[in-house]
Amino acid sequence: MENPFCLRCNRELETGEKSVAVFLFAQTTGVRPRQKSSARRICFCPQCAVSLAMGPAPEGALNFAAWQMIRDVVGAQPTLTEAAWENLHTTASEALLPATGTDGPAPIPRANSGSYLEF
Ligand SMILES: [Zn+2]
Repeated sequence: MENPFCLRCNRELETGEKSVAVFLFAQTTGVRPRQKSSARRICFCPQCAVSLAMGPAPEGALNFAAWQMIRDVVGAQPTLTEAAWENLHTTASEALLPATGTDGPAPIPRANSGSYLEF
């Protein structure tokens, strides 16, 4: 299975890397036969999860519901926040000493692929 990408910064999440996944599916109720959509897994890297959780509430009922869930899991344990800081530190060191001697890392394109959740 292909590694997931962070919905917000579009960074590929390595296998076993700490992240927050939001699972989303829709199903009908009170309708027979019951219809169920395929499930989607939306992932956030530690930095994006922490920054979303610390940030202001997003607009839109669905975004708001997802934001509250992310806040719940990010706030429950310091592990993700620590991972976000570790990654920040790594990024900063790489920025100071670019391995290639060029202008450093290219800007990451903003992830906005028309998903349901736009933060
Ligand atoms: Zn991210």
